[in-house]
Amino acid sequence: MSEPISHSRRDALKQFMLLCGAAGALQVTRSAQAADAPHLAPADPTATALAYHEDAKTVDAKQFPTYQPGQMCSTCLQLQGKEGDAYRPCNIFAGKLVNANGWCKVWVKKA
Ligand code: SF4
Repeated sequence: MSEPISHSRRDALKQFMLLCGAAGALQVTRSAQAADAPHLAPADPTATALAYHEDAKTVDAKQFPTYQPGQMCSTCLQLQGKEGDAYRPCNIFAGKLVNANGWCKVWVKKA
């Protein structure tokens, strides 16, 4: 037979549940903020410096010899966010969203 939960344990459980709810709400807020971030413009100075392309298929392999077919943001280690979203955060371009089909010079294969 189980013992009734004491007030202090019940209070601790309530606090824990409130904290879990607050953490979940914070996560939702962060996701919403990330989804609201502006798209990275190819004309952005940092984007230009790293040869960011909105569409990896438009990368000139002669101009950028490190580029290989199949390289794109969605296969890059630096891409964050939700799989399947067209635009997602990238560790390199803080506060901006990159096209999942894009590419830049610092592409690194996702493990
Ligand atoms: S670092 Fe990776 S994910 Fe970010 S823009 Fe470059 S290729 Fe895309």
